[in-house]
Amino acid sequence: MTQLQENLERLEAAIAVACRKAGRSRSEVELMAVSKTYPATTLAEAAALGLTFFGENRVQEFAGKAPELAALHERAASPIRVHLIGHLQSNKALRAVELFDGIDSVDSVRLAERLNEAAGKLGKRLPILLEVKLSTEETKAGLAPDSAEAAQLLERLPSLIHLDPRGLMTIAPLGVPEDETRACFRSLGAWRERWAAAYPHLALEVLSMGMSGDFALAIEEGATRIRVGTALFGKRSPYTVPA
Ligand SMILES: *Cc1c(COP(=O)(O)O)cnc(C)c1O
Repeated sequence: MTQLQENLERLEAAIAVACRKAGRSRSEVELMAVSKTYPATTLAEAAALGLTFFGENRVQEFAGKAPELAALHERAASPIRVHLIGHLQSNKALRAVELFDGIDSVDSVRLAERLNEAAGKLGKRLPILLEVKLSTEETKAGLAPDSAEAAQLLERLPSLIHLDPRGLMTIAPLGVPEDETRACFRSLGAWRERWAAAYPHLALEVLSMGMSGDFALAIEEGATRIRVGTALFGKRSPYTVPA
């Protein structure tokens, strides 16, 4: 058994435990394999094990892997999808829409408008998530949920017809007590409920939350998508462009 197979089995067992504990079915939780910093060969290995949904955090980095992945795409039994989960600058919107099947880190009106324009140009309807900032750490990306920017974006989305808003994403603060992590996940669910009621034209169904260190808590708190990197692929070192 390869290391990746072993990690995947261990991860699936832990997901099963969390689902059972929460009285949820495994099929309610989508597993995104976060492949940032890993080469295209790792994505290919994962795809061979049935992992077909990947998360990447940089446009440039994924641009380097995309050609190899295109070949893999043709051979794969089920379609491979790759979403951007890292911060995106508006000036890279077109390139991002060309490369990715979805953008899970939309955090401003300006970016949403640029993505809409790019998706229109490319004849796509682009799945997006709104990234919500629920921790007070200065460095965390995302929309403050009670900000004017968030309200404006939610108002604007129905008219951005080339975007397909699916839900919300958040990153919980790292290295905090478990009840704080839990509160963060619960808060994302509460914002979804609130916004679903206030903006009934938006189908905000996805709750993307939980990473290697906290996915079990996220599942218990209602995650419909977890984003797992190191627990699958091992510790990351900085990505270097293959020669
Ligand atoms: C890197 C990353 C992950 C995965 O983190 P791990 O701790 O390696 O599982 C999940 N979400 C985002 C937004 C990331 O950047």
